[in-house]
Amino acid sequence: MKKNVRVRFAPSPTGPLHIGGVRTALYNYLFAKKHGGKFILRIEDTDRNRFVEGAKEYIEESLEWCGIKIDESTNAGGNFGPYIQSERKDIYKKYINELIESGNAYYAFDTSDELDTLRKQYELEKKVFVYNSETRKRLKNSLTLSKEEVNTKLTNENFVVRFKIPENEQLIMNDVIRGEILINTNTLDDKILFKSDGMPTYHLANIIDDHLMEISHVIRGEEWLPSMPLHVLLYKAFGWENNMPEFAHLPLLLKPTGNGKLSKRDGDKLGFPVFPLFWKAPNGDTASGYKENGYFPDAFINFLSLLGWNSGTEQEIFSMEELIQAFSLEKVNKSGARFDHDKAKWFNNQYLQKKSDLELANLFSEELKEKGISSNIGYITEIVSLIKERAGFVNELWSQSFFFFEKPTEYDKKIIKKRWKEGIGEKLKNIVLIIDNLSNFSRDNIHDSVIKYIEDNELNMGQIMNSMRVSLVGSASGPDLFRIIELLGKQETIDRINIAIEKVNK
Ligand code: GLU
Repeated sequence: MKKNVRVRFAPSPTGPLHIGGVRTALYNYLFAKKHGGKFILRIEDTDRNRFVEGAKEYIEESLEWCGIKIDESTNAGGNFGPYIQSERKDIYKKYINELIESGNAYYAFDTSDELDTLRKQYELEKKVFVYNSETRKRLKNSLTLSKEEVNTKLTNENFVVRFKIPENEQLIMNDVIRGEILINTNTLDDKILFKSDGMPTYHLANIIDDHLMEISHVIRGEEWLPSMPLHVLLYKAFGWENNMPEFAHLPLLLKPTGNGKLSKRDGDKLGFPVFPLFWKAPNGDTASGYKENGYFPDAFINFLSLLGWNSGTEQEIFSMEELIQAFSLEKVNKSGARFDHDKAKWFNNQYLQKKSDLELANLFSEELKEKGISSNIGYITEIVSLIKERAGFVNELWSQSFFFFEKPTEYDKKIIKKRWKEGIGEKLKNIVLIIDNLSNFSRDNIHDSVIKYIEDNELNMGQIMNSMRVSLVGSASGPDLFRIIELLGKQETIDRINIAIEKVNK
């Protein structure tokens, strides 16, 4: 790579960060770290009407939860600040004046009403009105009005500054992912760059900042591809084309059906979160997040990394370090990546199985505390090792293991009807005696002694085992019965069987 790699993630704080945005941040981060470069967070808040309180903080917390470390930002500092556009207003003013002076931009005074009327007239003629090299010659702007008129209007009226798109130029651009792109400038419109409220629009601020922050690669969502010609023309107009960043436009994240973009509004509607963290909007609206749904950040990141990129191998499980090593923009797909929630769950399960029993026990112990249960970590670790393969999430451990922490309060009626036959109480009492007499309370010894009793007396194995299980667990589910007995301990086992005999026989 010829230059120092400096990339930026440049979200607008208009709400919570969508997972598509997280993926953009992730690919930027992976690319930067792979090339020993810097990852910059720049907040693009020039559109004050769309600013949402709390969104900036949400973005920062989300990246932190994901393990995406920021080298430069308002919080991390850096030599290219301020990293929030609302604090860079004076910079944009200086540069817009430069563009006006060099003839690459012009003032326009057409009111919204006037433009609306024009749009309607065009519609009647089945045409679309565009402010461009053709129409600007007939409109109210500093290209058509006299210097005096312009000066009076500048002091008395609202105005905007528009970019003067060059006429009939063949623009050749390059996108790292999509290759060469050709466009004729006559298809472009004279976009607004600056408004009389002293604020630049996205296009102007974005280009100036990328240039001043010495951004080497612009890696962003496909929705910005149509803006690329204007951006390239802006670099040219400023005379910065030799230092222009390389562009890479990432494929869209699609809904699970493959039809259309996965949007913020899809939120919980489709049955899965589209945000990394829980979000509460200033108006009280809420949306669920991956974190609160029990996802591990590394599993979430691993899952997201493969939505639009592949390593070219069979490998699916990647740590962040491995992703950094394997990542390349050349392996990013051109076509949209379909979101698959089952795959997200699968990844979480894989990561859960990889965690050590102790690590999981500590996480589970937090959940238990919330339920008012405090138990010995050694005991919890044993339980976790027994049931973890049945869980994909830490919050599923409880439903697989609650019976280790509390006695059953009900017994599955179907099982009772099927298995709890006449005289079973007597047989269970004999088993209680056998268990009570065991001096070696290991799983295997409990197993051998109980099985021996069943076989010696030619009893129905299924009936006895299921009746024991329902007495201990309340249902027919759960892991190995003898491990359950071993972990519950002698007294608890005996108590539970006795209680069941009494309750069920009634
Ligand atoms: N502020 C833009 C956004 O919200 C940034 C686009 C870009 O990366 O150029 O996505």
